[in-house]
Amino acid sequence: MLIRVTAAVSSAVLLGGCSGGGEAAEPESADPTAAEMEVAGPDNAADRSKGPADGGGQMIVTYEEATSPEAQNGKKIMSEAQFLEEMAAETSAMLDLPQDIPLFGRQCGEANAYWSSSDKAMTICYEDADASFQVFSKANDPDPVASTIGAERATFYHELGHATIDVYDLPFTGREEDVADQLAAVLLLEPDETGKADPDNVQAAVDWARIWEDSAAQNGSPEDFPFWDAHEYDLARMYNFECWIYGSNPVDNKFIIDSGTLPEDRSQDCPEEWERMSRAWDEMLDPYWK
Ligand SMILES: [Zn+2]
Repeated sequence: MLIRVTAAVSSAVLLGGCSGGGEAAEPESADPTAAEMEVAGPDNAADRSKGPADGGGQMIVTYEEATSPEAQNGKKIMSEAQFLEEMAAETSAMLDLPQDIPLFGRQCGEANAYWSSSDKAMTICYEDADASFQVFSKANDPDPVASTIGAERATFYHELGHATIDVYDLPFTGREEDVADQLAAVLLLEPDETGKADPDNVQAAVDWARIWEDSAAQNGSPEDFPFWDAHEYDLARMYNFECWIYGSNPVDNKFIIDSGTLPEDRSQDCPEEWERMSRAWDEMLDPYWK
């Protein structure tokens, strides 16, 4: 059964989770002097016999050192919100992880986030949070930090898509980057026990779409986009998210249509697109939900 997530930190988007135009280099090894903090999830001892993964793994959070102004700002935003701790605890409570999985906050030299298959570790670059903050500040958001945390939340779920595909060896079709975006949408937009998605998570999905819109604007002419890349074109990622936001709840999220950005040619099929996508991810992860 799919465990619905709730937004314990407030909303927003994500900047370039596995940002378009090429993946980051393989992560450097962790700074051995960095303070390491284990975030304990709920006691799951009673559930250990349930899933085939059954490893009792946790996500282990490390905030590495930040020296550049951009990284220092991003680290401040993430650490003050206890963002990584929250994501780690949520994931450990949601999925049977086959092993402990490191989750790094790191100065990468670029705005990005990535899953390393060789290290079985996830990194959210401090610069990613800083870049999101710049976008939402420029847009005069009333609370750009909240928008940033929401964006990074979507980024984390995108990377969790890569992580689950890897550690569970999930079968799927299509490009992995698109499939990872789909898991981010499913985890943000799936209704919880109230029958509706958490409004903060819906806002996070909206803000994630705003990030792709901004990214497309920053990157100039579409002809300059590296279409050979594994990622979809930024504006297509924006439209995908708008479609899934609308499709996940066409009544409450009709504002996506009213805002006029998502054409009817796409929107009319979004509820069915959402339903198939949501069911696919729910079934792919079915053996692993706690
Ligand atoms: Zn990615």
